Amino acid sequence: MKKDTVKNKDIVITGQYLGVVEEFLPDEQSTFVKEGEIFATKTGMISIDNKRKVEIETHQEKDRKTVKIGDIILGPIIFLRKYSVGLNFYTINGKIHFNSSYLGNVHVSQISNKYVEQVKDAFQLTDIVRAKVIDQNANEFTLSTVGKHLGVIHADCSICGTVLEKAGFNKLKCSLCGNIEKRKLADDYNSTKENLRF
Ligand SMILES: [Zn+2]
Repeated sequence: MKKDTVKNKDIVITGQYLGVVEEFLPDEQSTFVKEGEIFATKTGMISIDNKRKVEIETHQEKDRKTVKIGDIILGPIIFLRKYSVGLNFYTINGKIHFNSSYLGNVHVSQISNKYVEQVKDAFQLTDIVRAKVIDQNANEFTLSTVGKHLGVIHADCSICGTVLEKAGFNKLKCSLCGNIEKRKLADDYNSTKENLRF
């Protein structure tokens, strides 16, 4: 695999190659050097200053560590149950978060203000969803997707994996295989400015 030198504001994970000592001055707190190559010792965002010092910043350190009721989270659907779905949190209030121990649940009654009979009519595995935190119990959060700006913002075709295109109210269509699927869509489905790939 080709080793890419990182740029300012790149997201890196622990152990990732960052560059060489000829190019950067490695930060002692967040990087380590092996045979002239610099690697990340934590997950976060690259910061390169004007002296070419490279360090990794995490939002957890700069911002509060906890999730509060009313926060808007963004993350993938990781499981579907009969009456609820589970999400991981990628971002909290628009800030990238790497604490994967956070888990949120959307109950079927909290999906939409319109009646949703089955969870699978609104969400599928790997969908990326924007939701609001409405209750908390230890590290598990109760989420809601009621409201036009909440719901699925990215979905792949369950048959062929192509990104689905909006084809009507809460309806998506695959341009490749023609498959039609239902979702609880956010109003900015597939046009969100938020970064969905980390
Ligand atoms: Zn398809």
